[in-house]
Amino acid sequence: MSTRKPLSDQRIAIVGAGLAGVACGRVLAGAGLHVTVFDKARGAGGRMSTRRTDLGPFDHGAQYFTARDPDFRAAVLAWQSEGVVAAWTGRIERVGASPGPDPSPGERFVGVPGMSALLRHAARDLQICYETHITGIERISGAYRLHEAGGPPLRAFDQVVVAVPAPQAVPLLAVVPAFAERVATVRLAPCFTLMVAFDAPLPTPLDGIFFEGTSLAFAARDSSKPGRPAGERWVIHGHWDWSAAHLDDPPEAVATALLSAFFGALGLTPVVPIAASTHRWRHALPVTHLDVGFVYEAGLGVGACGDGFGAPRVEGAWVSGTALGRAMLAAGGMVSPAAAATTG
Ligand SMILES: Cc1cc2nc3c(=O)[nH]c(=O)nc-3n(C[C@H](O)[C@H](O)[C@H](O)COP(=O)(O)OP(=O)(O)OC[C@H]3O[C@@H](n4cnc5c(N)ncnc54)[C@H](O)[C@@H]3O)c2cc1C
Repeated sequence: MSTRKPLSDQRIAIVGAGLAGVACGRVLAGAGLHVTVFDKARGAGGRMSTRRTDLGPFDHGAQYFTARDPDFRAAVLAWQSEGVVAAWTGRIERVGASPGPDPSPGERFVGVPGMSALLRHAARDLQICYETHITGIERISGAYRLHEAGGPPLRAFDQVVVAVPAPQAVPLLAVVPAFAERVATVRLAPCFTLMVAFDAPLPTPLDGIFFEGTSLAFAARDSSKPGRPAGERWVIHGHWDWSAAHLDDPPEAVATALLSAFFGALGLTPVVPIAASTHRWRHALPVTHLDVGFVYEAGLGVGACGDGFGAPRVEGAWVSGTALGRAMLAAGGMVSPAAAATTG
């Protein structure tokens, strides 16, 4: 490594407190390293955020996650025993052109009492600077200075990890043009989320629906997930193609269109919700990704991780961040803590 100090004396910055950044941070901080995480939002979570409302919480990004990777599974089981994750056993089916049973049966997990609870738990003892939008990374005399929107340059770091959605990572990775070029090939599709509450249960036995051949992708009876307060709350995701085509539509028009498609696809008589709100995810899900796990140049001390580098989902984000953290330790001659110690 061209970084001069031993790894244990270095200061490491991570941009992004989604699951990838938090997982990477846990590996590094778990080994006793000096890690500071920056996120532009007010809390950890990223695309695993939960929207709090007077009518109860809505997971408006990821709806559930799988745990097939052995290390991630160990982490999920640890979180489950700590009460921040539980299995969602709702009835899930496919609706549309070829209706049928759950197209991808298997265990599905959620954060409790909301998806973001998992992130809060995993991030709890990391040093995180929220509401800090990093706009650039500058290399000066072998160190990295992070630039914050509207603020003076932040202090210098020896290594920097970029853990933000790929399109947002590209400008930050300008310090390593080869990384920026590779990450620029990752495409993320947008997604509109409609959050709706009703004053009575909708007359369907389904709690989760994969849609085919409509403007919808997935819908979840969010209130059917474990540990949620009573109520009838649904989260409805627009299909990526539909969301892309309607990206600049007014929120009211999006809400009307998605709700109408939802009732139509389920064959239900439309019901007026007691509350409805939309969220536009400009960068929701990778439709192309790099099958590399992460990128890291030990000599420069720059890495990047996230769901654009492996499996394009929650599990993939954790695997990517954890693998990058372990690679950084290995490059600095340090041993990774056991997987269970890095789960949070
Ligand atoms: C609508 C939707 C539905 C989904 N459904 C599922 C699902 O059911 N199952 C599943 O497994 N996955 C699902 N996903 C995907 C899953 O949420 C992501 O794969 C995963 O959360 C990505 O984690 P990450 O850490 O890589 O990125 P993110 O969660 O996006 O975290 C990146 C963080 O970086 C921060 N950030 C960005 N730019 C900057 C900057 N310049 N400065 C500072 N901070 C910055 C953001 O605020 C964010 O907190 C869904 C995603 C969406 C949007």
